[in-house]
Amino acid sequence: MKPLQRFQTGAGRIIYSFPVQSFPTLVNNIYVIDDGEQLILVDSGSGMERANADLLAGFAAIGEQFGRPMSLADIGAILITHGHIDHFGGLPFIRRYTDAPIGVHILDRRVLSNHEERVVFSYRRLETFLEGAGVSAEQREVLMSVYLFAKTYYRSTPVQFLLEEGQPTVGGIGVYHTPGHCPGQVCLHVDDVLLTADHVLSRITPHQAPESITHDMGLGHYFDSLDKIERLTGFGLGLGGHEDPIEDIPARIRAIRAAHDERLCKVMEICREPKSIAAISRDLFGNVDSYHVLLALEETGAHVEHLHQRGELVAANLEEIERTSRPVVRYVRG
Ligand SMILES: [Zn+2]
Ligand SMILES: [Zn+2]
Repeated sequence: MKPLQRFQTGAGRIIYSFPVQSFPTLVNNIYVIDDGEQLILVDSGSGMERANADLLAGFAAIGEQFGRPMSLADIGAILITHGHIDHFGGLPFIRRYTDAPIGVHILDRRVLSNHEERVVFSYRRLETFLEGAGVSAEQREVLMSVYLFAKTYYRSTPVQFLLEEGQPTVGGIGVYHTPGHCPGQVCLHVDDVLLTADHVLSRITPHQAPESITHDMGLGHYFDSLDKIERLTGFGLGLGGHEDPIEDIPARIRAIRAAHDERLCKVMEICREPKSIAAISRDLFGNVDSYHVLLALEETGAHVEHLHQRGELVAANLEEIERTSRPVVRYVRG
């Protein structure tokens, strides 16, 4: 994993960054903003044992390497960039050390605070999506159990304040609401640094899922949010929820948009013949395994939904869809 890093904003605030291993193949960046008066923690890691240990080690390392001793007990506020488990799952663990208020965007609040209910609703919507995508009953069962594993060890944790666009939050930190990757995704503006969370990442294109599963997700919202951030000026540096610092945020946004445009074109090519989302996903991503099957299906679903909403793709089996209660939809170029 990457080492602990220290950044200084144009206004002299310090941002510490260190990695935590959230899941065996996923590393998250944790940020601690130090303005000399209070410490603000951005994101929590997944809450898995290894991630919690990395969190404690990261705080200890800041004291050792930079001579600024601190611990979780010294945190003044906690900002959660969005409602994905690798970003908020560590909150119950952090609560053992501090009562610092937790802030999140209103569209992701219930993911943190009414988690058990939200899991049930998401589970049902995901099941409907997978059925319509043409995933076999047997494979659906495997995918749903993988989904539930990642979602059930977290305990609901109350949220104390909301992050709202146009309303600076603790420490005067600016908030941009950037739905798409997640309904309540925010980017945080710290002087001339933008914490881009999972909206803009340095190497991978952030994961997309259809809005038929979760409102305010989907490619249309995501593209609008990319435009919003691309129009901003005055940022020297982007710091993402994963991977490396981003030197040129607009250039990275253009590359991400181009990658999606290319994928949309591929889907149009694949749909010269009528195909289900499961079949399109296999053509796009090949045979992937375990959790990646679900990610590939969601990513494909987001692109197909985008094209279908805009009339580029149409249902090839409309009569069957009309007659059947839970039909598999086959898409073809309109
Ligand atoms: Zn995310
Ligand atoms: Zn993430």
